[in-house]
Formats: sequence, structure tokens, C-alpha cells
Amino acid sequence: MPSASPPRAKRAASASRHTARKSASGQRARHRLLTRAAIETLFGRLAALDPEPRTELIHASDFQLLVAVVLSAQATDVGVNKVTRVLFARAPTPAAVLALGESELARIIGSLGLFRTKARNVIALCRLLLERHDGAVPNTRAALEALPGVGRKTANVVLNVAFGAPTIAVDTHIFRVANRTGLAPGKDVKVVEAGLLARVPAAYRQHAHHWLILHGRYVCKARKPDCAHCVLRDLCLWPDKSPGENP
Ligand code: SF4
Repeated sequence: MPSASPPRAKRAASASRHTARKSASGQRARHRLLTRAAIETLFGRLAALDPEPRTELIHASDFQLLVAVVLSAQATDVGVNKVTRVLFARAPTPAAVLALGESELARIIGSLGLFRTKARNVIALCRLLLERHDGAVPNTRAALEALPGVGRKTANVVLNVAFGAPTIAVDTHIFRVANRTGLAPGKDVKVVEAGLLARVPAAYRQHAHHWLILHGRYVCKARKPDCAHCVLRDLCLWPDKSPGENP
């Protein structure tokens, strides 16, 4: 008859490993959330570096901002600026874009991903702006999200940049920074957005969107975060920081 002790020993070892894992992850979970004081310091530093952060999407009107943000889905700001420079020179208003027509618009924005869908949406969006809003960009989330190609993220950017609302549009950069630092961890953008709205101090909420995007784009990069030169390094809770001189 096989002895009971090896399986028991195995079970004990496995239970101990499980407890260790649980405690390690519990420890990490407890430490994955920045304190209020650390969050104040974090935004104080980002604000000191860039007191008035701006979107990098080039635009000369709320309408152009809206179109640029719609075009920026799965595209870089640099790529969007390249096509909008041509587009807005020829068609700066909803009526002018509508007059271009869908196929000509698709040709102009052809270097962007999903350009056919984007062209279709932008044409429909211009038509709706003219029909419902006299060609102006509406300033409510509901009216914005009713426009073709405009989801929550685009509405958040437009509300923030054009109308000064303290919204935070969680894109890939913000999602990464919020998770890595422990500012507002979450598995999906909705959780991160809710976490940010709850945790970013009111005084910093207006510009938090751009500070976090720019930090993610230029410092806390996806593949090679520049932790050595990051002003948040001593606050950041990410365990896999790249090597550097500071703690
Ligand atoms: S220390 Fe590194 S991981 Fe943390 S915010 Fe800075 S760049 Fe990102």
C-alpha cells in the first residue's frame, strides 16, 4: 500500500507555494496603489515640467480638432498631422469636407489605418454637424457620442481640449502609465478612467490627460521606458523599472 506521506508532503509543499504566491501577489496588490500624497507629488512634478500641456494634434478650430481626433484612432499624432495639414488647407469646415466627397477624402487620408471607414464616418459626421448643430461642435457628451466615429475616448478629448472639461480619455499611453505607476491600476480602460477620475486631485484634473499621455509617449514608453531619466522614478511602483541611478 502506498505511503500517505509523499502525497501529503506534496500537498503541503504545494499549499505553501500557493500561500507564498498569494502573499506575494497580495503584497504586490497592496503596494500597487499610489498613496494620495504620492499622487500629489507626481502631478506636482509633471505640472512643474509642463504647466500648460497641449494636444499635439494640429488644429485651428473645434471642428478640426474633432476630425483630427476621429482620424487618430489606431494612428499616431504625427501621421494624423501629416494628412490633416493637406486636408484642412483644402477643406477647413464641415461644408468644405462634405463638398470634397468620400472618395477624395479617403484618398487624402489614405496613409492612415482604417482610412475608408474613417472617411465614411467623417463625411457622415460633417453632414450631422450641419443638420443638427449649424456646423458647430456640440459641447455635451451625448451629442458628441451621437456623431459617427465618435466614441467615449474621442468625446473625452474634445470635451477636455475644446471645452475645458476635466475629462480624462484613457488611450494606450495613459493606460500604461496608470497601471505601471500604481496611479490607477485596472484591467480595462473603463476601470482605469474611473480610477483616475476618483484619484487625480481636482487641481490637476484639467491637464492630467495631457500630462499622462506625454509622459507615456516620451518617457514611460511601451517597450523601453526611460526609468533612468523619469521624474517619477522614486514614486513609481512598477517592479520592472529599467536600470537607473535613482531609487
Ligand atoms: S519609473 Fe519607469 S515605469 Fe515608472 S513611470 Fe517612470 S518610466 Fe514609467
